Amino acid sequence: MAAMSEISYFFSEQGPLAEVISGFTPRQAQTDMAEAVVDAIKTKSALVVEAGTGTGKTFAYLAPALLSKRRFIVSTGTKNLQEQLFHRDLPLVKKAIDKSKKTALLKGRANYACLHRIAQHGGGNQLFEKEVLHDFSLVKKWVTTTNSGDIGELTSIKEDSQVIPVVTSTVDNCLGKDCTHYDDCFLVLARKKAMEADVIVVNHHLFFADLALKDTGFGELIPEVDLVIFDEAHQVPDIASEYFGESVSSRQLNDLLRDMIAIQKSVLKDAAQLSLVAEKTQRIIADLRLLFPYDPKRGNWAQKLEDPKIAEAMTSIRENVEQVQEVAKVHEGRDKDLDLMIERLSEILSAMDAVSDVTRENVSLWYETTPKHIILHLTPLSIADKFSAIMDQQDSAWVFTSATLMVESDFSHYQSQMGLNNASTLLLDSPFDYQQQAMLCVPRFLPEPNDRSIRSHLLSICLQLIDASKGRAFMLFTSHAMMRDIANQVKEEIDTQVLIQGDTTKQALLDTFLSDQSAVLFATGAFWEGVDVKGDDLLCVLIDKLPFSSPDDPLLQARIEDCRKKGGNAFSEIQIPQAVITLKQGAGRLIRDGNDRGVLVICDNRLVTKQYGQSFIGSLPNMKRTRSIQQACDFLSSID
Ligand code: SF4
Repeated sequence: MAAMSEISYFFSEQGPLAEVISGFTPRQAQTDMAEAVVDAIKTKSALVVEAGTGTGKTFAYLAPALLSKRRFIVSTGTKNLQEQLFHRDLPLVKKAIDKSKKTALLKGRANYACLHRIAQHGGGNQLFEKEVLHDFSLVKKWVTTTNSGDIGELTSIKEDSQVIPVVTSTVDNCLGKDCTHYDDCFLVLARKKAMEADVIVVNHHLFFADLALKDTGFGELIPEVDLVIFDEAHQVPDIASEYFGESVSSRQLNDLLRDMIAIQKSVLKDAAQLSLVAEKTQRIIADLRLLFPYDPKRGNWAQKLEDPKIAEAMTSIRENVEQVQEVAKVHEGRDKDLDLMIERLSEILSAMDAVSDVTRENVSLWYETTPKHIILHLTPLSIADKFSAIMDQQDSAWVFTSATLMVESDFSHYQSQMGLNNASTLLLDSPFDYQQQAMLCVPRFLPEPNDRSIRSHLLSICLQLIDASKGRAFMLFTSHAMMRDIANQVKEEIDTQVLIQGDTTKQALLDTFLSDQSAVLFATGAFWEGVDVKGDDLLCVLIDKLPFSSPDDPLLQARIEDCRKKGGNAFSEIQIPQAVITLKQGAGRLIRDGNDRGVLVICDNRLVTKQYGQSFIGSLPNMKRTRSIQQACDFLSSID
């Protein structure tokens, strides 16, 4: 009999993992993935793994990475996952392999208190509202006791407290090495710790900000590792595109000018001209926003620049920013913060030039508005060439894993997006028995998804399902307006608690959902992924329609146009794969455990009437199927 490999032994019934996890059961898929990661590390190659829910992919990459004795980075999709990996999974695997390994959790700069900014605002600031002042005093007290400076530790202030931007830094206002607090700076200390660690846990935003050198002083970390692992890797293409492009926002410029005015008023009292030009520029920036409708919108910026009023406003902003910079230069050397602002203004001016250059090819110029601001973006249409060039330069292994990378048993969409055409691929099916555990229902007699009468159908289906599952349901929508409309009508019809996304934070909604056994949750985007509700707490997931991206999305439009120019079929090459991955994520909320049971209802008859419906159905786990809502309800009732 062939000798067992180190990794197979690790995951075996007698192995080290079984010793530290009581009730550990070996899973073939987990060992297979671990073996593939071992190979990728040995050959310094790239590996793409779709690991169905329940395969145990986290341990399957952590164990070989730790056993290899190499230095590595794990990048996750969100801060929550980062925390879970660092505080729960990593310590367990370390315990089974090598407790002495140094590990570090590194978050983006907006998570760390900035001692300079806290000192700058001193004993509070007359500009603060009462609530901000109250939170500011809590931060000031806490900052003397914390070791990490991670603002998430301070649970007595809200996640979205307005004090957070006041007490944390941005690339625009961080003084870096010139800062008098540099030696005690929490961000600097966290990065130093990461530099000394064997295992660094980051998130995709931080990873790509670093890689694209969008955050200074951190670029030295990534070239030093032997292995990079992306968990939730389906999010990487979109996040990477963001960082490989350029963007500039009226808020960013406005905040910089506001800080400049504050410095003039408190430190450079003889430089009144500075505030005058800065205030004038703030007004001109606000005027640009007024040229757009109030309701937030996204659109094609290159087209907007053809409007003489908008082009004129941009020229005027540019001239005024230059003027502010000229006036500020007169006072250069008098204040470190002001010196930094002069530099940052140059960078903002060059970003403004980049997003206004309509002659550039292979990029999309687009804008988005919030009620008060406008953000201008330049985004590359593809990151494949750039990313594969980066991988070629690094002498490391790369692992990309997620439960949702394939479209109809095919990795090619993901591989071509990322430039991973030579990577090895591996599919690991979920160990769950979906035929027994779950039912997929595409209700009969539904109108087309855009027909007005779909609302009454959705309402009726929601009510029937909630009744059968006694709450414990996620109603996932593709549009915020539709979600609110149906949720409000459901509220009037039932006595149980109806939770609606947007009414409070995501975590607070989830906590209430878990504590109230009969609650039903209405949500959009944020709940389609990264939510793990096991057991009887969640029996039913409804999806209102196939999650195609809005055709108004300017970035999508640019990609579609580019695909057509190259002779491709944008619908099948871009839109369907994107929607399949999103649907798989949403559907994945239902069965999270070997004992879970439940019903997935997708209220979109295109799944059965259109040929492309097969790409969606064929990408979902193999559940029992029905077209009858009654059967779905019977299945739900039988779970009790
Ligand atoms: S180095 Fe930057 S982040 Fe750190 S305290 Fe100074 S200004 Fe704040």
